[in-house]
Amino acid sequence: MKTRDFIEIEEQYGAHNYHPLDVVIERAEGVWVYDVDGKKYLDCLSAYSAVNQGHVHPKILQALLDQAKKVTLTSRAFRNDQLPMLYKELSEMTGYEMSLPMNSGAEAVETAVKLARKWGYQVKKIPRHQAEIIVAGNNFHGRTVTIISFSTEPLYRDDFGPFTPGFVVAEYGNADEIEKAITPNTAAVMLEPIQGEAGVIIPPDGYLKKVAEICKKNNVLLVADEIQTGLCRTGKLFASDHEGVRPDIVIIGKALAGGFYPVSAVLADKPILGLFTPGEHGSTFGGNPLAAAVARAALKVMRDEKLADRALELGTYFVEQLSEIPSPHVKEVRGKGLLIGVELKPEAGGARRFCEAMKARGILAKETHDNVIRFAPPLVIDRETIEWALPAIRETLNMK
Ligand SMILES: *Cc1c(COP(=O)(O)O)cnc(C)c1O
Repeated sequence: MKTRDFIEIEEQYGAHNYHPLDVVIERAEGVWVYDVDGKKYLDCLSAYSAVNQGHVHPKILQALLDQAKKVTLTSRAFRNDQLPMLYKELSEMTGYEMSLPMNSGAEAVETAVKLARKWGYQVKKIPRHQAEIIVAGNNFHGRTVTIISFSTEPLYRDDFGPFTPGFVVAEYGNADEIEKAITPNTAAVMLEPIQGEAGVIIPPDGYLKKVAEICKKNNVLLVADEIQTGLCRTGKLFASDHEGVRPDIVIIGKALAGGFYPVSAVLADKPILGLFTPGEHGSTFGGNPLAAAVARAALKVMRDEKLADRALELGTYFVEQLSEIPSPHVKEVRGKGLLIGVELKPEAGGARRFCEAMKARGILAKETHDNVIRFAPPLVIDRETIEWALPAIRETLNMK
């Protein structure tokens, strides 16, 4: 079967909740993916930053295979010998005293929302069921009904109400707006340090630091959704580290298992994460031994291969090179580490056609929010590969 055949079947039998590029991938290795027609592409999306360690990393693969032969699922009704080690290693790596494992990113966001509310009632003494959480305009935190309840994107919301109350939206990048939105019932402010899905929106320098100070002053928790920005993507372990900010709660996912398995987690210190009691929250698959073994290997690869340093060095180089491309279509190139957005002018005709043209030249990138091309290759990319990609990107950004 060829590309067309697979696409036809997919379109006929699958729900159309995505608009993928028409490439059918059958295998991958490192920064490269291969389609069913034998064509090779550079992956510049990394599954939305879930494969920071590169596709099918041999050490993570080995951990998966080894653990799959032993025991894969115990449920948390029993204990297993992998989860404690994941807890300990996550704590050592991140500096947070505790963590709580889930599966998808959205589940970890839901967990953080529940945790912040519980803290609001138990510690801050907000009247029951009155807690508010302040979020940012143009946020992306996932797809559950509660999470889309505080989205500002009509496409995510329009046909899916009624919505969960208890959220207040403040403009992103403006700390004063957050301060104004705080009331005695505010339990938390939840933000992405860089807004990935909104189009790689980098807030002004000092924004997160100022928000952290406002939160502290007002006895409000700061929750950072680092699902996309965390785990080395922006050149530090967490994007919050760029401003020396230590959020009260950090949410991670995506690259936590290097693309092999859905693993997410909420990180916090004991006075916060210690508030959950048995039965209040859970997940059949969360913290299973296979997930824990894979996540442990994925974290080890990040550390051993110094992926944060690589992201910083190569990201700086990639942004420099992209910025030097003369193009009638480009409005702005911005990035931190290897999370890079090329914003096109409104008259460029949308980013989609540029992504399709790059695909024809062997580079897979995806448009985000109509006018932005996101470049976020696996962090194991090297300088030569970036140099290989640049002429094709240059040609594409100069097409009619
Ligand atoms: C991807 C993402 C999520 C949702 O993660 P899923 O695993 O798709 O549920 C939440 N927040 C941010 C910032 C993300 O990039």
